[in-house]
Parts: sequence; structure tokens; C-alpha cells
Amino acid sequence: MRILLAEDDPILGDGLRAGLRQLGFQVDWVRDGLAAERELSTDAYAAAVLDLGLPLKDGMEVLKSLRTQKLSTPVLVLTARDAVPDRILGLDQGADDYVIKPVDLHELGARLRALVRRAHGQPLDTLQVGDVELCPATREVRQAGVLVTLATREFDLLHALMLNAGRVMSREQIEQHLYSWGHEVESNAVEVHVHHLRRKLRADLIQTVRGIGYTLPKD
Ligand code: CA
Repeated sequence: MRILLAEDDPILGDGLRAGLRQLGFQVDWVRDGLAAERELSTDAYAAAVLDLGLPLKDGMEVLKSLRTQKLSTPVLVLTARDAVPDRILGLDQGADDYVIKPVDLHELGARLRALVRRAHGQPLDTLQVGDVELCPATREVRQAGVLVTLATREFDLLHALMLNAGRVMSREQIEQHLYSWGHEVESNAVEVHVHHLRRKLRADLIQTVRGIGYTLPKD
């Protein structure tokens, strides 16, 4: 899943981006509040990690503006250990969760996964559609209990379709979910991933909706 990281500290930002990538997130990193606001307005992100002390526009102002625009992207705020009033204000302004600096990467990853899950109305940490089970934390997929090995993008695509089971995702939405900035996306990349998933799982698992995109029907 693709997330936006807004952090102006170059060392912390670089470390978080690298760490979150290792956990399987696609990460776009911005270093000021205006860029964060602009990118989040495109609505291409599963979630955002937002530092509050940002140049050009304060993180709290970014949050307020997002919620005023009715953008519901889950936002996790980074706060200092002693900044309790900031945390309370952040939650009141529409933050969904917070993590205290210094950041524990695995906690951050787990909280992000939980936020995205809840935003899609999924109560359990393992997604299930028919006999296919997907665990975002371990990045394991099982069909009828048997482990299926998927490439990174194949996993990410299946994850997106399962989170949105019963809804149609356009090719553009899928591309936005799969690729962070700086990736050359081949025009038929999504088709190729779908083809592989159908071969590795079941031919009829993912349905093509002509001229629109793809859907994974709920059982
Ligand atoms: Ca800062």
C-alpha cells in the first residue's frame, strides 16, 4: 500500500522511508506542509504519516485543511514524548492515531496497517475472500490453507482488491496504489500482474470490468 510521509528532518525522514519500504509500504516523502497538503488532496494514499512541526504549513493546519475538504485518508501523527496537548489537539482535528518519537518502526507499521484496515471496514488483521486469505503483517497469502508465493506487486494488487472487495478499482487507482514516485510504470503493468495472480490463484478470482478496471467479488 502507498503512503505519504511528511517529515522535514532529513535523517528521520530518510530512515522512516527506508524502514517503511522494508516493511512493504510504497512511500512518497515530502518535507513541508504545503507539499503534504497538495499530495494528500490527490487522494492516492492509503494513509499518511504526518509530522506536526513542518515548514511552510504546520502539520496541524494541514490536518485541519484535509478534513475541511472532506478527505478521509487516515492520518497518523508523529509527536514528541512530552507533547500531550499536541496529541489531544491532533486527534480532535481529525488525526486517526499517533506515534511518539523516537519512532519504533514496527509499531508504526502495525498502526498504519490497522488504520488502513479500519478505514476499509475490515475488523480482522487477516483479509479473507472465498478461500483466499491475506495477512498484511506477514505478507503471506494462502489459498485453501496452502501458502502461495507472490511477487511484491502481485501481493500489493491482491491486497488492494481484497480491501476493496465487491467494488471496482480502475487501472489508474490500482497503479496509484502500487507505485510510489519515480517508478516507470509500463502501460500494461496492471494487466500483467492480474494475469499472474489469476495463474497463481484462480482464473476466476479477479474479474475484468470492461473499460473500467477490475474487481474481486465478495463471496
Ligand atoms: Ca519537524
